[in-house]
Amino acid sequence: MVDLKGQYEKIKEEVDRGIHQVIDSTQFVNGQAVKDFQTDLEKYLGVKHVIPCGNGTDALQVAMMSLGLRPGDEVITSDFTFVATVEVIALLGLTPVLVDVDPLTFNIDPEAIERAITPKTKAIVPVHLFGQSADMDAVMDIAHRHNLFVIEDNCQAIGADFISKEGWTKKTGTIGHIGCTSFFPSKNLGCYGDGGAIFTNDDEIAHQLRGIVNHGMFVRYYHDYVGVNSRLDSIQAAVLKAKLPHLDEYCNARRIAAEYYDKAFENHPNLIIPTRFAKSTHVFHQYTLISKGVDRAALIDFLGKSDIPAMIYYPVPLHMQKAYIDPRYKEGDFPVTESLSLTVFSLPMHTELDEEQLHLITSKVLEFLS
Ligand SMILES: *Cc1c(COP(=O)(O)O)cnc(C)c1O
Repeated sequence: MVDLKGQYEKIKEEVDRGIHQVIDSTQFVNGQAVKDFQTDLEKYLGVKHVIPCGNGTDALQVAMMSLGLRPGDEVITSDFTFVATVEVIALLGLTPVLVDVDPLTFNIDPEAIERAITPKTKAIVPVHLFGQSADMDAVMDIAHRHNLFVIEDNCQAIGADFISKEGWTKKTGTIGHIGCTSFFPSKNLGCYGDGGAIFTNDDEIAHQLRGIVNHGMFVRYYHDYVGVNSRLDSIQAAVLKAKLPHLDEYCNARRIAAEYYDKAFENHPNLIIPTRFAKSTHVFHQYTLISKGVDRAALIDFLGKSDIPAMIYYPVPLHMQKAYIDPRYKEGDFPVTESLSLTVFSLPMHTELDEEQLHLITSKVLEFLS
């Protein structure tokens, strides 16, 4: 699904130099590389504070911890997402409230958010799924009217722009109170291990976040909060510092591959190509098609025989996952998510796809469907 080796070959010198500098400095934790990357990312995103941390799941957890949410508080998020989003809500003893998504953009449905609000609701976690922004105009409007926090799960959309109806454009992850991202190797900005970051424009929240990722400690060995230990290590920061200047180019390469797929599949009676949300650029973390009347398992099997990986993100809606079975929800409650989980599939998407590979992938898909 990704080609990290090919991407590395092109930036080998910068990456290797950065890693060797860290080794020479022996500042493996909280070294200069982490500070430099943090500053670079703040500039790139146009956000006041970036707080690096251990991974995207920690980013979400620490974000929720920093807002003073208490057990029983309700947090609204999408039923159609990677499990981490709801996992941290549950771990903190908060109550996840799931809502359905838009059938074409796969992102959280603002009307469904509105219907799910109760006096206990404290926060909304929109997920910018597969590389494009949720409708942040609508989400922020709901949040303002109901006095709710917004934590953006930007793990799949770093680099995407949201274009507001009010005329401004901002990077996804910098619009709500807090944004979270992951630098897992296969993400659009990936390191060579685990990594994550939290963004905010709010000085007070930034202060809390910095303390919580560091054992709830603001002054050495004085612990004001129950915190966690969540750090981005310096070697990963060096890799990310080398890769960040290429992020826009990487997003572009993904877009070009997506356009190739689009041309091959548009108007096909059995396929719906990814819908572009008018208020967002798309950075194509995934290229996800909706199949109609297709034996999806057989298609994936057929592609596998030609060494073409295809994946299903996500095969089971969160409300039907064993760990999250809840008497509040039953099969049929989230018809869009349930239908998507049965029909979507994702094709290889990365920065190194060439025409030959794209030609093979598209012709094999079309061959199966013919
Ligand atoms: C990858 C991902 C995460 C978790 O990131 P990790 O770094 O793997 O912990 C959370 N949410 C979404 C939507 C993701 O895609």
